[in-house]
Amino acid sequence: MKKLIDKLYELNNLDDKELLELLKGMNEEDIIYLKSKALEVRKKYYGNKVYLRGLIEFTNYCSRDCMYCGIQRGNSLADRYRLSLEEIMSACKMGYELGYRTFVLQGGEDGYYTDDKIVKIITSIKNKYPECAITLSIGEKPYKSYKEYYKAGADRYLLRHETADKKLYESLHPTGSFENRIKCLWNLKEIGYQVGAGFMIGLPNQTYEHYVKDLRFLKELEPHMVGIGPFIPHKDTLLAKEKGGTVEMTTVLLSIIRLMLPEVLLPATTALGTLHPTGREKGLKAGANVVMPNLSPISVREKYALYDGKICTGDEAAECRMCIERRINSAGFSVDLSRGDNILWRDRRYVY
Ligand code: SAH
Repeated sequence: MKKLIDKLYELNNLDDKELLELLKGMNEEDIIYLKSKALEVRKKYYGNKVYLRGLIEFTNYCSRDCMYCGIQRGNSLADRYRLSLEEIMSACKMGYELGYRTFVLQGGEDGYYTDDKIVKIITSIKNKYPECAITLSIGEKPYKSYKEYYKAGADRYLLRHETADKKLYESLHPTGSFENRIKCLWNLKEIGYQVGAGFMIGLPNQTYEHYVKDLRFLKELEPHMVGIGPFIPHKDTLLAKEKGGTVEMTTVLLSIIRLMLPEVLLPATTALGTLHPTGREKGLKAGANVVMPNLSPISVREKYALYDGKICTGDEAAECRMCIERRINSAGFSVDLSRGDNILWRDRRYVY
């Protein structure tokens, strides 16, 4: 296994057979070695820095029925909310004062926010905070909409592919098309966004073969960001009784992704922190270099419940900001509050 890990480190790639062998065959010692190599690579490109992004969950209305998700349309028990432009701006103000220079606007696919409304939100933030980066995470939209948001000033877009296996994707997304999700990612890239793809770990019926497909897709797409996290069941969904993902599998995949895409921006996600008290720290030590603390008003935090047990729902933004800094420092890293662009993108070395 050590040889395979060295090969992955040298070439930033392995063939599918080798990836499968690695995923299936590593013992504890191999995993420690894999993580040490991933940490070495992240330090080479990003030093000890961890970028912070302020996350604003601005709507939990959703027209989709993703089986794993607590805010799916069919969940009649979800207590729905929307933030007004003023509430979004006041979350940004709070974030700006706490030092954040990236705001991530995430929500369900909510038709209430027409393209005009989204553009208004983007321009309002950009007018007030021109040096801040705006990341959108609002699902699948037509090319034209993505283009409008980009022209209005959106810098980045997060759209996890969720799983790169068409059959598994379709089993989890009764109202979605796998092809469209993938097409959206290519569209976003073509338009010029810094793009984030990613997948969940521990979905029902997910196998090592599926992870190999995810890794292969990421290698092909070459996104600037990759968000991965464990699937955590939500009590009011049909998947409530499923097992969900583990910290160990998630951190192993974080390390492999760091070695395959050395310059990628890789968050240690809230879901990882939900599974284990120091889950995010474990993620950082496995090669992650981004954390996204919550900036949403406390009154709505619990309502944005994609899964059960979500952490940080009761902490003021300022507390979250300080808590996360302490955690980052205790894991041996330091906070970087700049925009934190992907270094390849920043250096314009990408050729489209
Ligand atoms: N509507 C947007 C944002 C979705 S929420 C979009 O479609 O991209 C952000 C991410 O949360 C999803 O992409 C999914 O990967 C993750 N997620 C949803 N339900 C989850 C669950 N039960 N456990 C863990 N992660 C979940």
